[in-house]
Amino acid sequence: MMDYISTTEPALKSLLDSARQAAQQAYSPYSGFRVGAALRLTNGEIVTGANVENVSYGLTICAERSALVRAVSQFGPDIRVEAVAIANLNDAPSPPCGACRQVLAEFILPDAPVVFPAADGDRTMTFRELLPLAFEMKLK
Ligand code: ZN
Repeated sequence: MMDYISTTEPALKSLLDSARQAAQQAYSPYSGFRVGAALRLTNGEIVTGANVENVSYGLTICAERSALVRAVSQFGPDIRVEAVAIANLNDAPSPPCGACRQVLAEFILPDAPVVFPAADGDRTMTFRELLPLAFEMKLK
């Protein structure tokens, strides 16, 4: 079931503004796709990231992972993400890719809203909806 949360919520709107600002820092000489992500942590901090491409393509890091690595580096491994906003400067749909969803799963609250550009405008879904079956390590 899709659970849309309004992006008119002021806190999410301001998080989206932070993501748009972060996209200005993107390093994307190969694709020209400029993406920014903003994470709101449960400690109240906002951490942003931009995509950083690489000539080998496969080593490119997305804005979402860029922001997450920065958040852990800055605030330590106990951080929890309570909201995510993603924006790009290309007016293109850009939901978080599969790799970023799995990496976010490590630190995000299941009900955290994730705002991203969709074909029909900005869309908000909970993280649980975006990645219902995240990989988990459960050894017997
Ligand atoms: Zn990604």
